[in-house]
Amino acid sequence: MLLAYACENKQEKVMTKALDPANMDSSIKPGDDFFRFVNGNWIKNHPVPPEYSSYGAFTVLYEENQKMLRELVKEVSADKEAPEGSISQKIRDFYNSGMDTVRIEEQGIAVLQPEIDEINSLQSVTEVSRYVAVMQQKGLGSLFHFYADADQSNSEWTIANFWQGGLGLPDVAYYTDNSERMQQIREAYKAHITKMFLLKGDDESAALKTAETVLAIETDLAKVSKTRMETRIAEKNFHKMSLDDLKVLAPGFDWGAYFTALGLPDPGELNVSQTEFMKGMSELIAKYPVEDWRTYLTWHLLDGSANYLSTAFVQQNFDFFGKTLSGSEVLRPRWKRVLATTSGGLGEGLGQIYVERYFPPESKERMIKLVENLRLSFAERIKKLDWMTDETKEKALAKLDAITVKIGYPDKWKDYSTLNIVPDNYLLNVQNSRAFEFKRDLAKVGNKVDKTEWGMTPQTVNAYYNPTNNEIVFPAGILQPPFFNKDADDAVNYGAIGVVIGHEMTHGFDDQGRKFDKEGNMNDWWTEADAERFKSKTDVLAKQYDNYTMLDSLHVNGNLTMGENIADLGGLNISYNAFQMALNGTQPKPIEGYTADQRFFMAYAQVWRQNVRDKALLRQLKEDVHSPGEARVNIPPFNMDIFLAAFDIAPDSKLFLPEGQRAYIW
Ligand SMILES: [Zn+2]
Repeated sequence: MLLAYACENKQEKVMTKALDPANMDSSIKPGDDFFRFVNGNWIKNHPVPPEYSSYGAFTVLYEENQKMLRELVKEVSADKEAPEGSISQKIRDFYNSGMDTVRIEEQGIAVLQPEIDEINSLQSVTEVSRYVAVMQQKGLGSLFHFYADADQSNSEWTIANFWQGGLGLPDVAYYTDNSERMQQIREAYKAHITKMFLLKGDDESAALKTAETVLAIETDLAKVSKTRMETRIAEKNFHKMSLDDLKVLAPGFDWGAYFTALGLPDPGELNVSQTEFMKGMSELIAKYPVEDWRTYLTWHLLDGSANYLSTAFVQQNFDFFGKTLSGSEVLRPRWKRVLATTSGGLGEGLGQIYVERYFPPESKERMIKLVENLRLSFAERIKKLDWMTDETKEKALAKLDAITVKIGYPDKWKDYSTLNIVPDNYLLNVQNSRAFEFKRDLAKVGNKVDKTEWGMTPQTVNAYYNPTNNEIVFPAGILQPPFFNKDADDAVNYGAIGVVIGHEMTHGFDDQGRKFDKEGNMNDWWTEADAERFKSKTDVLAKQYDNYTMLDSLHVNGNLTMGENIADLGGLNISYNAFQMALNGTQPKPIEGYTADQRFFMAYAQVWRQNVRDKALLRQLKEDVHSPGEARVNIPPFNMDIFLAAFDIAPDSKLFLPEGQRAYIW
C-alpha cells in the first residue's frame, strides 16, 4: 500500500515559495476544478517531457533526487583505490559497467548465450520446472512469483509465498479485454516479441511462430489468473498448505525438482495466494509441448534482460513498453537509467551515503513530532465516531497505538558483502544483485520476521503501510519539498506531509487493512454492525470516483482504488484536525492573501499536480490502485465542510457534493 505508483538546482529550490501563486489559475473557481485552480499555470508551464509518460510533483522530486544521487555516485566512482569488496567499489563498478556502452555493444547477445543454450537443452517437464527456479533466482519473471513474506495468520513468522504471474503485458485485462485498444496492444506485443527474436538471431518465420506461441501461453495463463480487483481482497488471496497439498493441487508441475533447484527441498508451510491459478498453470504444462515451454522461457529471459543488453534491444524494449504502452517519446538518458538500476541493486549501500549527505537529523525529529500529533488526532477522531461501536473503537485505538513508525532510513543496514560486482559486465551485475536479493529473501523462510527491515530504500520518493508489521514507513527521499518543507508554515506541512502520514495510518483501517489486527494477523476484530456501517460509507465514496469522468468517457474505478481513496479522505481529515490541535486556538495571519485553512488544502493539491499522457492515464485507470492526481484533488476535499467553507464553495459549483452524497469515514 504505497502512496503513489511507481513516481533544478539546489539554490533555486531554497528560493522557491512553499506555495507559489504563480502556479495557480485564478480564472478557475475552486469549486469547479480545485485541481486546476491550484495547479493550472504549473500544468500549462510543465508539459510532460519527452522521456516521461507523466510529470508531476513526484517526478520533479525524483529528478532532483537523481541529480543528488549522481553527484554521490560520481564522487564514489572517482575513487580508483576503493578496496575490493567495499561498497564504494561495488557502486563504482556497477555504475561504470552500465555506462560502458562500448563493451556492452561488443558483448551483444553473446552475454546471454549460456542461458539460451541451457534453455535449449531442456527436454522434460522436470527440467522445465527446475529451470523456472533458476530463472527466478536471477530475478526473471516466469510462470509465477515466489517470495518470502510474513504469514498473514501468524505475522511473527515468515513463510514461502506463491503469487500468480508469468505475463509479459502489465495486467490480465490486456489479454482478456476485447476493446479495440487492447486488441491493438496485443498485435503490437506480438510484433515486439517477433522483433526481439530477430535481434536474438532467429529468422523471420521462426520469430513469428515464437511470438504466437508466447501469446497463446500467456493468454491461457491470464485466463486462469485473478483480476487486479480480485487480488486486492486479502482473505481471498491467502491459502496456507503443505508441499504435499500443492502437489495434489498442481500435479502437472514438478515441485520436487523446483524446490531442489531453489535449495529449499523442504519449504514448510506455503501460502498459495491464487489456488485456481496454480491449478490452471499446472494443466497448461501438459497442454503445451516442452518445445513451447523452451520458447516461453527464452522470451522471458530476453524480456527481463533487454534493458541491460546492447542498444538495439534497449530501444526495441522502449519502443513497446515506453512508447506504445505509456506514450513516452524518447528514452531517458543512459545515466538516469543506469543510476536507477544501480540505486535498485545497491539500494541501502547508496542510501547510507545519501542520508549522511542529504538527510538532516532535524528532519527526523520534526517528522517524529508530526507523526505523534497525527496519531493523537486520529485517536481523538476515532473516539468521536458516531458509526463505530465502543467495543470496536477500543480495538481500533489499540491498533493505532501499536503502529510502528520508521522515518528516513533503517537503523540496521543491509550487508552487501556477499554480493559480487565486477567492472566489466553490466548484465552479470544486474543478475548478481537480483540473485543476492532472492537468496536473502529465501533465507527468511521458516524464520521470525525481522521487523527492522525496510521495504523501500531511503532515497525512494514514496511511503508505505505494511499490514503484517502494522507499520508506516517514510523514506528520506519523500521528506523534501513539496511534501516536507522545513521552511514552510505549518498549514503547508500539515496539508502535504501531514496528509501523507494520515494517509498511511488509515491504511491500517481501510477496506483491506482493517482485516488485520494490531499484531498484523488477518483476524476480523470488527463487529458485524461496524463492518456493515463501514461498508455503506465506503460505497458512498466508491460512487464518487465511479462518477468521475476522465478522457471524455472513461471513469475512475471506485472499487479498485477504494483503499487509496479512503486513505486520502482520512488523511485529510486527520491531518486537518492535527493542524488545529497544533494551533491550539491561535489563528495564523494569511500569507499572500490566503488563509491558513486555504493553504492547508492548496498544499495538498500541490502534491498531486501532474500532467499525464493519454496512454499513461488509460493504463493508470486500468491497473493502478491509486486514482489519478486530478481525482485525488477534486474529490476528497469536497466531502469536508471545512474545505467548502474555506473556499466559500456554492452548491451550484461543478464539484459540489450535496450533504447526502458525502462520505464521512475517519
Ligand atoms: Zn496509499
